[in-house]
Amino acid sequence: AAKSAGRNGYSYFTPALQQAADLRRATVREMRLALAQDQFEVHYQPIIRLCDGSIERAEALLRWRHPLRGLLLPADFIAFAEANGLIIDIGEWVFRQVVSQARQWQAAHGAVFQICINKSAVEFRCDAALYQDWGNALARAGLAPGAIIIEATEAVLLDETRPVADRLRQFRAMGLALALDDFGAGNTSLACLKRGDLEVLKLDPSLVRELGAGGAAPAVCAAIISLAQGLGLKVVAEGVETAAQRELLRAAGCDYAQGYVFSGAVPVEQLSAMLAAGRRF
Ligand code: C2E
Ligand code: MG
Ligand code: MG
Ligand code: MG
Repeated sequence: AAKSAGRNGYSYFTPALQQAADLRRATVREMRLALAQDQFEVHYQPIIRLCDGSIERAEALLRWRHPLRGLLLPADFIAFAEANGLIIDIGEWVFRQVVSQARQWQAAHGAVFQICINKSAVEFRCDAALYQDWGNALARAGLAPGAIIIEATEAVLLDETRPVADRLRQFRAMGLALALDDFGAGNTSLACLKRGDLEVLKLDPSLVRELGAGGAAPAVCAAIISLAQGLGLKVVAEGVETAAQRELLRAAGCDYAQGYVFSGAVPVEQLSAMLAAGRRF
């Protein structure tokens, strides 16, 4: 069947498929242009230390200020960029932005201000050469090891095939820290926690959402938190939306939290202002 489809494949290439292909090509062009014209922006969501409400770190979240469609969220364009490999160039751009921003915040506020960057599975499947200069970029910026944290999902961290495992080692070797993102979303296993090189575990909003609604959720979260901390990890709860959730997480010993109860992702200037004001939540 595959063979006959292959031989006659073009006969199925109807006007509708042709149109879809044209649209894809046009969108790829549009995204390349967006990169060249700086239409992408990195917004930063503050990550709060639960014991004192201070802003200890931030997560870099990509936005696309589209000239016609307004401010687009990752859900509008990341999957497309992954499918077309453009995510590699975008990821490179995000890294440069974040390194330069981290350097500025470090200079302005003295202490190391850690920033988390998300990386898709595709970004771990390419070859080493792509990331060759990243170590130098970190050194030139004077950033301490661990100042930049790479967030990856379990699927990536448990992938022991060649390019992925090699990229993870390469990132570690250049002083990037690793975080396990979306823990508790879908079918999570504990296998990931056995990696010796993880620094952060991020509790998925799906777990946090159930806190404060009664039931076993607080006990489940508390157990995960102490398990992770026992392994030397810091725990960040994501999607914290209510004061009750915040309080339950604090009581459970959770280290950090991010979510709308504190602040969503904001443009650089806004986080700079919060840091300069010594803002606490
Ligand atoms: P993520 O890594 O799990 O990021 C957290 C998402 O939760 C963000 O969505 C954030 O805006 C949202 N969020 C923050 N506070 C709350 C809250 O209180 N409640 C709820 N329900 N959600 C909250 P966003 O910015 O739309 O990003 C979506 C996903 O896109 C991210 O999920 C991340 O995996 C991906 N992404 C973002 N930036 C990049 C990037 O530069 N590169 C790559 N490869 N992926 C990225
Ligand atoms: Mg994340
Ligand atoms: Mg993520
Ligand atoms: Mg997440």
